[in-house]
Amino acid sequence: MITKDLLSFLDESTCCFTAVRNVVGRLEAAGFRRLDMSRKWPVIHEGAKYYVVKNDSAVFAFIAGNDITAGFKIISAHSDSPCFRVKPQPEMAGGGGCLRLNTEVYGGPILYTWFDRPLSLAGRVVLRSDDPLHPVTRIVDLQEPLLVIPHLAIHFNRSVNDGNPLSKQRDMMPVLGFLKEGMEKEGLLVKVLARALECAPGDILDFDLCLYPVEKSCLTGLDKEFISAARIDDLEMVHAGLSALLVSAKDEPQQPMTRVLAVFDNEETGSGTKQGAASPVLLSVMRRLNENLGGNEDTFQQAVANSFMVSADNGHGLHPNYESKQDPTNHPILGRGPVIKSNANCKYMTDADSSAVFRMICDKAGVPVQTFVNHSDVAGGSTLGNILTSQIELRGVDMGCPQWAMHSCRETAAVADHIYTVRAFTTFYNL
Ligand code: ZN
Repeated sequence: MITKDLLSFLDESTCCFTAVRNVVGRLEAAGFRRLDMSRKWPVIHEGAKYYVVKNDSAVFAFIAGNDITAGFKIISAHSDSPCFRVKPQPEMAGGGGCLRLNTEVYGGPILYTWFDRPLSLAGRVVLRSDDPLHPVTRIVDLQEPLLVIPHLAIHFNRSVNDGNPLSKQRDMMPVLGFLKEGMEKEGLLVKVLARALECAPGDILDFDLCLYPVEKSCLTGLDKEFISAARIDDLEMVHAGLSALLVSAKDEPQQPMTRVLAVFDNEETGSGTKQGAASPVLLSVMRRLNENLGGNEDTFQQAVANSFMVSADNGHGLHPNYESKQDPTNHPILGRGPVIKSNANCKYMTDADSSAVFRMICDKAGVPVQTFVNHSDVAGGSTLGNILTSQIELRGVDMGCPQWAMHSCRETAAVADHIYTVRAFTTFYNL
């Protein structure tokens, strides 16, 4: 049930904008109400359920606790995934009368995995309005297969399988079709968007558009134990956090601590935007909440000191073909439970204290837990937790589900780990 729900969530969440739209839809259906940072907030009562959207691509949902100093229980994840973004004035002629779209790489995708797949476009289109400071934003998902990045035939490069460096500008341009007689290439994409949005092409001022593969998610393996899908990093954790929050809202309408789900954007490019974890966006939401619950700076500082964050971003599971890439004693296996990620140089926020907290939560939930540390000769990644602590000095743990092929166009994770993680998150929110 939860697995089926994850697959449809992944299929509908084709980019950060549609992901946030889907999170918001589910929050609204569960009785959460929208608050706007640019407007006055109402007096917030214990147990009230609200959310704030930032830049259409980040969302912060909370259930107000009934003890203002008891603190925040936060689960954070990110809405963005590596992909290709469409450049302005993207129409480009190609050989044989082909029309291509000029794109730019977003984050760190494995380029090879994007070849020869039916691709579509999703994102945000911004339209003219009467108020120059406030244009109209529309979220769009064309859904139809529309583009393909064709690979060069092996006959033109016999050594392709011996390693083939790729140029992001030359090799990765998607083809949109043929330019027909008398067809203007300039503005063609805008016309396609205008048709989809039923607006005049002249009203479209700009867009943030991502390419995405249209093939649906599915289960694979002898016992259907694997999830094969795009954007598992990190929408699997967004889905787990959201599912847990909604279950917890029903199980325990009132709690001393405020429960928070924080979905940031731009983790894949270093989090350095107003909607990213390096900005004060979550801190601002927490402060506004404290004030509208009737608190002051002193109650807020007590609340922060009593808080705990689970920074949820998937980790690397042991790859059956590359065992030597992993740490000799800390190599999580797919299907054997969520992973606590730690790093001696503090790339993760985990320490012995916060790891102990997460272990006890998993114990209580009856969930096995694994550990991940980088092989000492391999430089690892970083994630939300340690970046966020430059804004708020929170206690917290970095964790995630183990997965294969992180940043591939199509990634693999385990069904069991998702079920375990939702259970652990629900236990955390219900503590
Ligand atoms: Zn991630």
